[in-house]
Amino acid sequence: MGQAAAFAERPRALGPSIRFENTGQVFQTDEGPLEALRGVNFAMDHHEFVAVLGPSGCGKSTLLRIIAGLIAPTSGRVDVFGKPVTGPRDDIGIVFQAPTLLSWASVEDNVVFPIRHKTGRVGEADRARARDILASVGLEGFSKRMPDELSGGMQQRVGIARALLMDPDILLMDEPFSALDALTREELGFELLKIWEARPKTVLFITHSIAEAVLLADRVLVMSERPGRIIEDLAIDLPRPRGIETTTDNRMHDYAAHLRSLLVKRH
Ligand code: ADP
Ligand code: MG
Repeated sequence: MGQAAAFAERPRALGPSIRFENTGQVFQTDEGPLEALRGVNFAMDHHEFVAVLGPSGCGKSTLLRIIAGLIAPTSGRVDVFGKPVTGPRDDIGIVFQAPTLLSWASVEDNVVFPIRHKTGRVGEADRARARDILASVGLEGFSKRMPDELSGGMQQRVGIARALLMDPDILLMDEPFSALDALTREELGFELLKIWEARPKTVLFITHSIAEAVLLADRVLVMSERPGRIIEDLAIDLPRPRGIETTTDNRMHDYAAHLRSLLVKRH
């Protein structure tokens, strides 16, 4: 399937894949209640790529953990594919900032770990799929290596491969490239777009980088300082497929300038 075809086929008619409705999150802490999110409203279409920007501590990771079913919101609701989230699900893949690899397991064993964890056994078909996915993230031939033999960028690729193993419908990424140098980061971003174009999925991508958000996403959500709310929902109308030439598109600079103006601290 060509890249253009993949976009034409976005099944918007199916309704949103993720929907927040007046969602709030209050944590109980030793210092009293801490309001992390307040009245969050947004929806994501199937196969949409949405980036989230916001100041540190505004609740971005909390948002992601609610979708993943790792925590339950204290008010409002969050639906995934039209049903309230009740716990972790197999059709959601998660990539964290640090790759969280098992140091004693090979690259391939790390990628198939969720299958072992879930079913207790890993078959040759699972391993073959793991090697295919490793190849698609640029790690062909690395399956028997140990994590500490790999660079940070390669470790992060292993984390991405692990999240993609079950070809999840939803991919949640929490500042996945922030520990990487600028060039590796850009390269991994474009590779992520290729993977997403070949196997469309709903992607929620948290980042601190305005340029990265604009370059990758269909829409950028901006959150306020804590308690986090969505203060901007900006459609990024740049052609796809995107690549290095996108970085010099004037509209990219206009979007970035607008987003920067929202993120500068107002005292
Ligand atoms: P971000 O990812 O935007 O930096 P987080 O979602 O991690 O922000 O956190 C939002 C706020 O909620 C922070 O003040 C953080 O300290 C607090 N917080 C997050 N998780 C918990 C928790 N489990 N218990 C108490 N406070 C928490
Ligand atoms: Mg965070």
